[in-house]
Parts: sequence; C-alpha cells; structure tokens
Amino acid sequence: MAKKLSEYAEVVGQDVLDELDAIAGRVRHKKLQNINSTAVGGGVAEILSRMVPLLQELGIEATWDVIKGNDAFFAVTKAFHNALHGTPEQITPEMFEVYRSTVEDNACTLAVTGDVVICHDPQPAPLIDLKPAAGRQWVWRCHIDLSAPQHDVWEFLRPWVERYDAAVFSMPSFAQELNIPQYLVHPSIDPLADKNKDLDAGFIGEVLNKHGIDPQRPVVTQISRFDRLKDPVGVMAAYRMAKRRYDCQLVLAGGGASDDPEGEQVLAEVQEQAADDPDIHVLLLPPFSDLEINALVRGSTIVMQKSIREGFGLTVSEALWKGKPVIGGAVGGIRLQVVEGETGFLVRSVEGAANRLMRLLGDRDLRERMGRNGHLFVKNNFLLTRHVKDYLLLMSALDHPQENVIHLG
Ligand code: UDP
Repeated sequence: MAKKLSEYAEVVGQDVLDELDAIAGRVRHKKLQNINSTAVGGGVAEILSRMVPLLQELGIEATWDVIKGNDAFFAVTKAFHNALHGTPEQITPEMFEVYRSTVEDNACTLAVTGDVVICHDPQPAPLIDLKPAAGRQWVWRCHIDLSAPQHDVWEFLRPWVERYDAAVFSMPSFAQELNIPQYLVHPSIDPLADKNKDLDAGFIGEVLNKHGIDPQRPVVTQISRFDRLKDPVGVMAAYRMAKRRYDCQLVLAGGGASDDPEGEQVLAEVQEQAADDPDIHVLLLPPFSDLEINALVRGSTIVMQKSIREGFGLTVSEALWKGKPVIGGAVGGIRLQVVEGETGFLVRSVEGAANRLMRLLGDRDLRERMGRNGHLFVKNNFLLTRHVKDYLLLMSALDHPQENVIHLG
C-alpha cells in the first residue's frame, strides 16, 4: 500500500516534505519511466515499489516497466551480475548473444514513454538503442559494485552505457571511467512500508512462534535471497562457532527473485547443511512477506549481512532502522551503513564474524547503544524521502549537463 506523503512528516519533519514539493515543481512537466528486470525480489524492486507511488504523489508522472526474458536470459544476466561484482564467470559468445537478442526483443515491444528513462542495472542496458536522436534523457542506474568488474563483460556493456546521458552509482568507489556525467545516489528504505513500520509485540511473538523460534534465547538473523554472494553458508559457520559459547538460534530467511535462477540450488545446499541443528531455521518466504520479515528482524537480537559482494544491501538499513546491531561483510554499500563499532561491526572472515557475534551476544549495553545509533544513522541518511529528493535533483540536473552548480532559486 502506498503511503500518503503527509504521513512521512511524522518521521522526517514537514520541512523535508516542503522541500520535496518545491524541487518537484521544477520537473513536474517530465514523465519519469523506470525499467528493470524483476517486479519482485531484490533491492531494486523493493525501492521502485516504494519510490514510484511517492513520486506520483508529488505530481511526477512516474511509471515502472519490467523487461521479459526466459531462463537462459536470466542465467546469463546472473552470470553478468556476478562477473561485474568481480566474481569470475565464464561468459561464452552464445551468452553474449542471448543477452543482446533478448533485450532487442524487448525493445520491439516496450513502449518508451518517459521524458526521462532510467534503466536499472545491466539487464535492460541495451534498450539505449531505442534512444532517438534527440528528446528523451536516458539514465543508467547501476546498483551493483562495479569497482572491479570482469573485463570482458564490462567492455561488452560499456558502449551501451556510454550512450546514456548519465550514469548513477551508489558509492563513489563504484564509478567507472566513462565519457558521460556520473552521479552518486545512495539507496534507501521506506520507514512506513510494511517491511519497516512499527509492529506490536504480540504480532512479533506470533511470527516467531509460527516458525518455532524461541523468544527467550538470542536470535541471530540474516534476511537475503539464497545467493552465494550473500554467503549463507559462512553465516552458518560463524553461528556454529558462536554457539559453542552462547545458546543462540539462527534464522536464514529469504525468497527468490524472478531474475535470479541460482536461488534453488543455494537454498538446497543451505538446507542440507542446516539439517543437523534444530536451532537453525531456514525459511523460504513467498513474495510479499514484508510484515513477516519485519517481525523476524524485530524479534532478532543481532542481524547479519555477511555478503562477499554487495551493491548496497538494503537489509542492513532495514535492520538498523529497527534498532538492531548489524554484523556485515566489509564490502560495497555495507561499508556505508555499518559504522565500525558504532552501528555494528564489519567482518572479513567467518572467524571474524564469529568473534563479533560473541562480542555482541555477551554485551547487551553495546547492542542497545549500536541499535540507537543505527536507527539515527538511517534516519539521517538512508530514508526514501532523501532518495526521492536525489532523483528529483537528478532530473533537474539532466537539463544542465555542463554545469557544476545549479541554482534552484
Ligand atoms: N527481501 C525480501 N524477501 C526475501 C529476501 C529479501 O523481501 O525473501 C528484501 C529485503 O528485505 C530487501 C531486499 O529484498 O528489502 C533485498 O535488497 P538488498 O539490497 O539487501 O539485496 P539484493 O537482493 O538487491 O542483492
């Protein structure tokens, strides 16, 4: 359910909403079209499902289209995703061809309606072929960590990327040498969404109970697609080490994304490895389990996001917002959100994660202090209202490509 703009005043203050309205006034004449490759699952779909309604409420004609592909296409784009994140992948000429021809098919059926068209991530990138000689402004919004991409995949994509009017990255270190302007926009969470809103203790208890989780003993949780780059097996290994000293439970909860074909296999591996310990709860969640995920995080003692590669990692902000300390892999955007020793700990190994887990399991005051810091840190940096403002400013900046400073006056 979309939230009324006015409801955000309680969280961020009326002045922030007034500012949004003023900036929106500069770009209301432009239609904004978003294009990505999945309507459900993963951070991009999560963000768009919250951002598009809010932009509409601000008077921007914002839309969201999803490109279509078969299993072969999504196997290729997942391999691209891994390779661009710097995990070696064997990409054959046939795979490049599957990618090119699938996006070409989409180009034949997709109606380009936006004055500003934002293509998210590599999957739809070649749609730039639809760019007419003049008129629309095209933005490539990259959500992944492109700091050390596999050469062949990046060089294959780069000619398309460089035909966009601008590229947007989540962190300065993700930016590439490109001949187009680049902008920095951090992702965000929606504090009023079912995923993040306040819940009453009774409901949280019901959800824990439904999954056989004991509320009296510490709960360590990672919410993620079952993806090797999220390292669920490493989380389990760290938990097992900590478990020797602390009687805790582990929740690994996640669903799939329609553009991620590896999930089933990773889930099967995780289930097999978890089978000998009744305190490990591997939960396969259907799409739209937002209230349940919210309750699982709120019912947790510590949240982990032990990714090996990560674009941003919305799950980190989602947990910090709920006052949970986060142990996160020291990669990608997790480094923006986990401030070492203040909102959580950054780790580089299973042993490091186990060590930090034990530290937190043994120190309630530290957990509470980090929880308070984390909530405030997200409030100041990673809420949807800030993200919407950045997109409105981006739309405005596209009209001033040669200017370093734009006076909004
Ligand atoms: N998520 C979900 N259901 C799941 C697993 C994850 O709704 O079963 C959500 C999670 O709460 C977060 C998003 O999907 O909002 C994942 O975004 P993130 O940036 O953490 O990772 P990505 O999946 O995009 O790599």
